[in-house]
Order: sequence, then structure tokens, then C-alpha cells
Amino acid sequence: MTASAPSSMLDLLRRVVQEVNGAEDFDEALSIIVTRVKGALDIDVCSIYLKSPRSGRLVLMASEGLRQESVGQVEMDVSEGLVGLVASRAEPINLENASEHPRFRYFPETGEEEFLSFLGVPIIQQRKLLGVLVVQHRKARRFDDEHVSFLVTLAAQLAGAITHAEFTDEIASETPLVSHVNVEAKGVAGAPGVAIGRAVVAYRLADLDSIPDREARGVEQELARFAIAVNATREEIEGLKARTQALLPAEEGALFDAYLLLLGDSLVHRTETRIQAGQWAPGALRDTVRESVRVFEDMEDEYLRERGADIRDLGRRILSHLLPAEDAEGDFPEGGILVGEDLTASHLAEVPIERLGAIVSARGSGSSHIAILARALNVPAVMGVSDLPVSRLEDRELLVDGYRGRLYVNPSPELRAEFVRLVREERELEEGLRTLALQPAATRDGRPVPVMANSGLLADIRPSLESGAEGVGLYRTEVPFIIRDRFPGEDEQFEIYRQILASFDPMPVTLRTLDVGGDKALPYFPVREDNPFLGWRGIRITLDHPEIFLPQLRAMLRASVEHHNLQILFPMISTLEELKESLILLNRAREELLDEGLQVPVPKVGVMIEVPAAVYLVEALARRVDFLSIGTNDLVQYLLAVDRNNARVANLYDPLHPSCIRALELIAEGARRTGKPVSVCGEMAAEPAAIILLLGMGMDSLSVSVSAIPKVKWVIRSFTTDRAEALLAQCRLLENPDQIRSLLNNALVQAGLGGLVRAGKN
Ligand code: PEP
Ligand code: MG
Repeated sequence: MTASAPSSMLDLLRRVVQEVNGAEDFDEALSIIVTRVKGALDIDVCSIYLKSPRSGRLVLMASEGLRQESVGQVEMDVSEGLVGLVASRAEPINLENASEHPRFRYFPETGEEEFLSFLGVPIIQQRKLLGVLVVQHRKARRFDDEHVSFLVTLAAQLAGAITHAEFTDEIASETPLVSHVNVEAKGVAGAPGVAIGRAVVAYRLADLDSIPDREARGVEQELARFAIAVNATREEIEGLKARTQALLPAEEGALFDAYLLLLGDSLVHRTETRIQAGQWAPGALRDTVRESVRVFEDMEDEYLRERGADIRDLGRRILSHLLPAEDAEGDFPEGGILVGEDLTASHLAEVPIERLGAIVSARGSGSSHIAILARALNVPAVMGVSDLPVSRLEDRELLVDGYRGRLYVNPSPELRAEFVRLVREERELEEGLRTLALQPAATRDGRPVPVMANSGLLADIRPSLESGAEGVGLYRTEVPFIIRDRFPGEDEQFEIYRQILASFDPMPVTLRTLDVGGDKALPYFPVREDNPFLGWRGIRITLDHPEIFLPQLRAMLRASVEHHNLQILFPMISTLEELKESLILLNRAREELLDEGLQVPVPKVGVMIEVPAAVYLVEALARRVDFLSIGTNDLVQYLLAVDRNNARVANLYDPLHPSCIRALELIAEGARRTGKPVSVCGEMAAEPAAIILLLGMGMDSLSVSVSAIPKVKWVIRSFTTDRAEALLAQCRLLENPDQIRSLLNNALVQAGLGGLVRAGKN
């Protein structure tokens, strides 16, 4: 056996993983692995055994070197044979002469008797054993360390690729085998709710790169066809712009204006020249787009480089009008589920919202713009389903669980029935809750705990008011910043803030200053960092850029001249200095406006407690402001060191972790000692079990997404302060989140709120 040099090992590793990722189907993926490994390591056998999800047995799925008849036939329990031993020990086993080992079991159909040496390594993904990778050799000789470590590395990398290939295969089967039903795809929760519906893959726009060269049949005819397509595209963009405006603030239109400008320029002219030279219109368009994209992509400037993507998008739009009708967007079915690689707000603008059942995106997270929008529209969403073979899902029936971030394909009749029940229960619950929505939120003993709305779009103002929100507890001002292609000016911001203050007057409206960075990037202000959540975000950016911060503060203050319900909130504060500097700038903005003759009232000012450092400074912070607002989304991620958007560690992200509960208690105690009110505005405040604890801690108000308001009020109105305090005291004695959650869920059931627990809202 010859050992390869480490660098070629690395190359081989990279190549195998790449090839496996590109495999057409699962069988091909497995066959690539065994063929490549056997060839590269100069060994006699390479085989893969996978654990059957149905029987739990290890089945020989592919082999290079063993008899092919045995593939799919040989199988064993994890308590049997050497392969079973590798699986049950979950570690490599390297033997000079396998037949001498007490666990050796002989399978005559494999022809295995000829091979003496044996090396098996487990294939494990996220603690779950997928199978065993085995290499064998005729001669009795131990495999050397380099081979062992190569196979361990390969197996670790293949685990993901194998799951992906298996998943695609399972999803792709139209007539699923028993083992292919209830295929579960994991993502992250985007917006709550459950749905059943047919998938509509977003943008069935043609792929420019797949257009072949072809000679134009008649130049005049081809030019006319192109002109019609360009006009249709122009109308489409104008229509999109109008529809987007109905959903979002006018600034979204800025992007479409840029498209219209591009349509008017040389893109059209250069395509026409190519058509005149004999190329058919789609081919001419493809070449023009490629040429322009190349020019942009070569540019130094990041912003300009990204304009290449706009040209490509525009090219695809024109192309969709050039190609036959079957490529055009079809009718959107009732309850249809919009599925896409990377869905954005403009995809949403293209579908009839009243028929939209759910949203599923292979990329993005719960804090992506489209997820925020989905919550505002009360449409369930699952984000970040990275293994999703999007192009194979068109028209397939999907079950969507927006609470847990799960998607099911090929459901069994039982699972489907369960979802039908959940959807019905949810509808009944919502109808039942609607009457409750307009009642004030107070505990059974009469302590008011107002429920406010988290908002960030003009579009949610009406639903917020109708849902019984008692004010806006968190207005995320970054949304109008994110959907533009430049910083919005002071006047534009003033208009947005004025409308919100006016709509809710006299109820309080809390405008949070710009909180970008982390996972919320501004397209025109790129920040590249290795650890963005620990980097330049929130107040750290705005304090470094007074030219951005001051106009925002001025716009907020100007909006409060007529409406005295403004509260200003600073995000991501981790030092007292940051708060002091922010207050100085706020004061400066107010002084300027007073000098300009405006009667600006003194706004209430608050600080977000969302970084562990702020928990331990809570009293000092509270003394300097009027109120505190706890951002549990970030606080939990920083306390537990778990990225809030990373599906791989999502099971560790739990606001009911005893450390989180303790931190929240510290904040509540600090607020009480300083006499300042404290509200909770993270997603935790919408979780029924968690609400009981927040009531027990004495939180003064909660702020949640609009669709959650009725449910939150229901929980508040079902408990007395004493009962909540007693439950909190019991939870303090428990050591893990699951015990805490089940204790609280039992309390919900006892209080008659079993519906919330059963509908998966908890
Ligand atoms: C939070 O961190 O809990 C919060 C409310 O703010 P955001 O989700 O916008 O970071
Ligand atoms: Mg936050």
C-alpha cells in the first residue's frame, strides 16, 4: 500500500467531496466515493454501509472490490460483525487480520474471505450515525496512521454530502418508497404558523447561461420580437414597483427605478447590434448581459461590483418575455407555497398575497427581511433550508411548520392529517383570540402588562392597530435603510417616523436607532468581518458615523413635534460610555432643532439590554434613561454563545436555559431598584411558557410581532401575579430547559391554554 503525500490527500479529499456534491443522484454519489477512494489509496476494497432509517440495520450500499451481487443484500445489526462494531463504538477500527477478530462475521456472498486487513470508520453527522466506510486489503497488514486520518476526514466531510444526496433522492421520488415518506427538511423558524400547499418555485425565469447560439430566422422579425420583450419588461417593472409600494415604503421603488434606467441604455442597443449581425434575440441578449456583468465584476468598488447582479436579473426578465409562454409565471394556486433559493421582498411582490400559504427559502434566516415581512403578513415561513433541491419542488405538496422551521415532502397520510388538524386548530384559535385582542392586557389580579407591537414596515401599521397593540414597543428603523440603495435622507426618514407616531398617537411608539451589522447588512455600506455578531454593529456603527446618526435622531425628534408619543431606544449598548455619547448626540440634535425654532419635546429614552455586559451594568444604565427594553434574541445568543441564525446549533438556542432566566431576573431586579420600567421585545416574549416567567419577574410590558399579540394577551389574562411568581420559583430549582418548559406547559394546560401548547405554539 502506498501512502500519498498530504497535499495530494487534501486535493483528493476536495475532489471527491466536490464530485459527490455534484452527483445526479444518491447511487451515483455513493459509487463516486467507493471508486475514487479505492483508486486513490491503492487498496483492494472500498465499501459503504448505511444505516437504514426504517430497520436501523447497516446495509451494504456500494462497493468497489466486493461482489456486486452482495450490494443491497448484505445487512447486519449494529451488534453484529466488525462493521457493526465500528458503528456501535463510533470510532475507527484498524485490523491487520480481520478474520482473527472475535467479532468477525463472514458473509459468503461478498467474497470477503480473500481480504485480511480491515479499516472501518464511522460516518457521523450531528451526533447521528449515518453508516460506515470500510477499506480492505488482501494482505495482512495494518493500515498506517495517514490512511486512518484520511478516511476519518473524508467520512466527516462526506456526511453532509451523503445527507444532501439522500435527501434530494428522497424528495425527487414522485412515488415514494416507504422509507421516503415524511422526508423532513430542517431550516430555521422564519414566521410562525403551519401550512399545507403546493410549491411554486419563485421566478421561473429562464437561465441565461443555458441559452444556445442560434441563427436569427429573420433579422427584422427578431428585432421586433426583442422590442416587444423590452417593452413588456418595462411594464412589468413599473407594475412591480406599484405593487411593492402597496406593501412597503416607497423606497423599494428606488431599485426598480435603477432597472428602468438600465433598460433605457446601451443594453438594448448592443443587443440589437448583435441581432443585426445574425444572432437570435435570446443569444444576443445573453452575450450583452455577460459582457456587461464582466465589466462590473472587474470593478474594484464593491457596490459597483454588485450592480452586475442587477444586470443579470434584468437580462433574465427580458428573456422570460422572449421565450415561449410556458416559461412565463403561471397562476399562483390558492394556498401556494413560495419556494426559492434566496427569496427577497421583490419575489413576494410578484405573488398574490391573499393566496400565499407559506414561504420557504433555502437561504436566509429568521431575521432576513422576507421573514420579517412574512411575520407582518401572518404567513408562515421557513428559512435557511440549506439542503433544499429547489428546482425539483415545483408543484409538489409541502407541509410547512414555521414554528420549528421544518418542511415535509412526501407526507404519509397520518402526517398530512396531523397538519390538517393543526391548520384547523390554528384557524379556530385565531378566530377565538380575535375577540380577546381588543381587551386590555392585565393579569388576573388586575396588574396591567401592556402588549405592544414589534414593527419595521409601514405595511404593518394597520394590522398592528387592528390586532390590539397598545403601542409600538420596537420599531426597527433598519428596514427602510436595508431596502434602499443609499442612506435615506433626514426628510425621508421624518416622513416615515411621523406617520408611525401619528397612527398610534397617544399610544407610545419606540423608535430604535439604526441597528445594522451582524446579519443585517446594508447593500451600499458593506462591512466584511470574520465575526460580524461580535463586530461593528448597532450603536458601534452609528457612534462612529455621526453624519448618519444625527440626521436619524433629528428626523425622530422632528416627528415628535406634533405627536408627543416618541420614545427613542439605543441598541447594542455594552458600555456606559456608549450610552453617554449617544445621549450627548441626542441632546445636540435637539438643541439644533430648538435653535431652528422647532418646539421639540424631550423624548423618553431607553436602552436595549441585549449584551451580557449590559446585564451587569443594568442599574448604572437604568439611572441614565427612562426605560429599559430587553432584546432577548441577541441576549440569548450572546449568553449561550449560540448564533441565532445557525441551524446547526439551533437546538442549543433556548431562552428557557437557566442562565437566561437568571440574567432576566437580574435585569428586572435592577430596573425595580432604580424605579425604571422594563419591557421585553425579543421573540421570547411571544412564547407562552416564557411569558409566565416574565410575568413572575415583574416585567412591565411585552412587545411582540403583530400576529402574536392576541395569544400573548390570552396568556397574560390567564395568570395571577402570585401564580406566575410561584411557577418562577419552581423553575429556579430546575436544571435544564426541557424540565422548565414542561413544567410551564403543564401550567398552561391547567390554566385552560392547552390549545397553545398543542398547536405547537410553544
Ligand atoms: C433582540 O435582539 O431581541 C431584538 C429585539 O432586536 P433584533 O431582533 O432586531 O436584533
Ligand atoms: Mg437585537
